[in-house]
Amino acid sequence: MKIKALTYKLFLLLLFFISNPVWAVSNEINNIRFWDSPDTTRIIIDLKNKPKYDSFLLENPNRIILDLNQTKFNGKIPYIKRSHTFIKNVRHARRDNKARRVVIDTKGAVKYRTYALLPNKSYGHRLVIELTEKKTKKSVAKKKTQSVEKPAPTRVKLRDIIVAIDAGHGGEDPGAIGKYKTQEKHVALSIAKKLKRQINKQKGMRAILVRTGDYYISLRKRMQIAREARADMFVSIHADAFKNSNVKGASVFVLSEKGASDESAKWLANRENASDLVGGVSLDDKEAVLAKVLLDLSQTATIDASTRAASRILSEISNVGPVHRNSVQSAKFVVLKSPDIPSILVETAFISNPQEERRLNNNRYQAKLAKAITRGITNYFKKSPPPNTYLARISRLSFDSAVVTVKEKLQISSNGDT
Ligand SMILES: [Zn+2]
Repeated sequence: MKIKALTYKLFLLLLFFISNPVWAVSNEINNIRFWDSPDTTRIIIDLKNKPKYDSFLLENPNRIILDLNQTKFNGKIPYIKRSHTFIKNVRHARRDNKARRVVIDTKGAVKYRTYALLPNKSYGHRLVIELTEKKTKKSVAKKKTQSVEKPAPTRVKLRDIIVAIDAGHGGEDPGAIGKYKTQEKHVALSIAKKLKRQINKQKGMRAILVRTGDYYISLRKRMQIAREARADMFVSIHADAFKNSNVKGASVFVLSEKGASDESAKWLANRENASDLVGGVSLDDKEAVLAKVLLDLSQTATIDASTRAASRILSEISNVGPVHRNSVQSAKFVVLKSPDIPSILVETAFISNPQEERRLNNNRYQAKLAKAITRGITNYFKKSPPPNTYLARISRLSFDSAVVTVKEKLQISSNGDT
């Protein structure tokens, strides 16, 4: 028995060495890509295996160096526009027999961080290099004066109601993927853009897009963008997925205080929140701790407002297509955690249902959805207009005229009596 076990172990050891020869090159770069967002560039190195690497900055000229152990290069260098914000050039060379050096020449000083991503349904192992502007004292001061100047004049006259529209996922995170390879991130952005157009047609309302292109934004950053835009509402657009391809219909979610309201909501919450891991955002920012404390403070009132708005949206959507759940659902979505901005997540349809996948790709259906969501939002704001807005004045006027009508009626009836 013992000898048998030993032979077996030796056999396994041998198998290990055959499949992982330590003396050979063990990794390969298959591609280098990058995603641009307005203030960040993420360079993605696609690899065969999990990378072992070192990275550091060099100056004169500014560049980021990555030394990847035991790696050969099979990929291609992406085309970089001369007008690119951060990158001047990407090049690579063999370091010694085994290591591969990738050099990113940057325009001026940048801040960078690196992290490895595990394979997902769209990509294999990846190494991400995230570049952001290195803030000099000058640029910080400039930003500050800008933000001080902004709010001053809006106090005086009626302000627009601002709706922040968040297209889910993006960049390295495709979201759910349909049978015909439709990616949730693209459908979400397309509907979000149509929704923006519809909202901007409403008098006294204005929409902003949280994500304007194909790049990833962390969930906390999405809320921050809405806050900086002084949004009165945050609407996140998604497409649902489930293992059973017959499941169909839209659902509308708000944040739940005590966990997901049912099993599938929990499942979904896990999937949507997993975005941040997929997008590769580490939660090491010190600000995140402070943010968390602030976030938990005034949530209850906001959830109540969110639920009222969500049910208006749900009832409008139900006129356009099938509905998965007849009532507003609640789940622990990070993206809905703004303490003071009513926040709603719309799962527009099931991308995992081939029929709905086709519909999600259809321009006219997207427009119908956008119109329905807009009606829902407008109905909510007509009922609960924020102060100093056009809708607040309208409802004030109709309130005044209602008082007049009642007075007139009283007058009439008292006249009739005498
Ligand atoms: Zn999603």
